[in-house]
Formats: sequence, structure tokens, C-alpha cells
Amino acid sequence: MRKKMVAGNWKMNQRFDEAEELVSEIADIIDAQPLDEDVELVICPPYLFLEMATDIASESEFHIGAQNVSEYDKGAFTGEVSALMLNSMDVEYCIIGHSERRKYFDEKDEVLAAKVNLALANEIEPIFCCGEVLSEREANIHFDIVKAQIEKGLFHLSPEQFYNVVIAYEPVWAIGTGVVASPAQAQEMHAFIRSLIKEKYGAELADDTTILYGGSCNASNAAELFSQPDVDGGLIGGASLKAKDFIQITRSF
Ligand code: PEP
Repeated sequence: MRKKMVAGNWKMNQRFDEAEELVSEIADIIDAQPLDEDVELVICPPYLFLEMATDIASESEFHIGAQNVSEYDKGAFTGEVSALMLNSMDVEYCIIGHSERRKYFDEKDEVLAAKVNLALANEIEPIFCCGEVLSEREANIHFDIVKAQIEKGLFHLSPEQFYNVVIAYEPVWAIGTGVVASPAQAQEMHAFIRSLIKEKYGAELADDTTILYGGSCNASNAAELFSQPDVDGGLIGGASLKAKDFIQITRSF
């Protein structure tokens, strides 16, 4: 369902006490001054902090996502965390296909598709990331790259399954670099992604799909990005680790 959304990807940051303080601060701010009703705020802390975060979120107006999930459903996979486990912890979203997982953990399209399937089968909405590296943009193949990522990761889904997917367009050259895509660049790619969905699943589903922008989005540039017609919010890394900045982003629609 198309909704306005701001999701925070904490990555591998924070001690437990710091994480608890940050989640509590976010809860305090939005309890004092609620979010717009049509804006969904999601926090994606490391696995270890999910229970603390879902406990606090259950008393407040925000939602919790994981940063990863196993490609396997259960069994002898030491160190892995399954979608079923996430579901049993009241986790509602899961980032899948982040460029850091693609790059450092060599996660290929087939693995990402398996993760998407397991998340959906366990009532967890994937926040599916796609995006090109700088050399691909410079070679003018960024549309082809994003198209292939989406086709291979998502287009095996039925329309009913696809309805529960959020897409995050994250140009890799913008992640953690301070170099944000221009609103026009973001809009151009988001409109392209929506056109792919329309071709595959029809206009209604395309119009219903939430497409987030990610990559050096912060409290100063969010409003301009979010004002683009096909940008439905943001996936936020660095700026999600400061409660006031993060909340400011959620108020940038
Ligand atoms: C991210 O890692 O998903 C991200 C968008 O990071 P940053 O906001 O720090 O660029």
C-alpha cells in the first residue's frame, strides 16, 4: 500500500544503552508531538536490540524493522536469524538487498529473492533496496542496473505479494558520502521504477507502491526530495542516529 514512510537504518552502530536511549528519545518526541497520521516511521536497529525496540514501539506510534534476514527458513544455520523469528518478535519490516549486503556479503539476486519470499511468507514487509554504483551512472546504464535488480529480486511475486513490498532506491554513490542525488535525479529514477511496476502489475499496483529514496538524505534536504511526486519518503542511514534530525525528516512531507 502506498504510504509516506521514513525508515532509519542504524547499520552496525550503538551499544545497547545508547540504542535504548535513542529509541526512547524518539518515542518521547513523537508522543509529545505526534507524527502526521499518513506518515509511517520505521526504525531498523541491529538484531540484538529488536526486543527492546519493539517493546518501546508497542507503546508508541512507530514501527520496527530488521536490517537483514536469513535466506533459509530454519535449521542448522549457525548465526542466522529467520523471518519466522523476526515475526515472533513483532518485527514488521526487513531491509533486503542493501548495497552493503550486496557488496560486502556478496548477496546475489537469487538470495535476495529467497529472502523476500521468506519475509512475505512470515508477514514481514520487505524494504527492497536497489541502486547503481557511480561507474554505472557514468556509463549511463543506471536504469538497466536498477531494472535488473527489481526484476530479479521482486518480479517473481504475485500481485498480492507485491502489494506488501516497499522499494528503496539508493544510488550507491550517495550512501554515506554526503553527496545526495538531486531531487530531479531521484524523481527520474522513481518514476522509472513505477513505470516498470505498471508494465508488470498494472497502474493500480504501481500507484500503490511506496518508493523511498536513500543516500545522504538529512533534515536539510529531505523536504525537497520528498516534494517530488514519485518520492514517498526516505531510507535514512547516518541521520537516523540522531533523534531530533530523524524526526525532523519525518516532518518533511
Ligand atoms: C543507507 O545506508 O541506507 C543510507 C541511506 O545511508 P546514509 O543516509 O548514511 O547515506
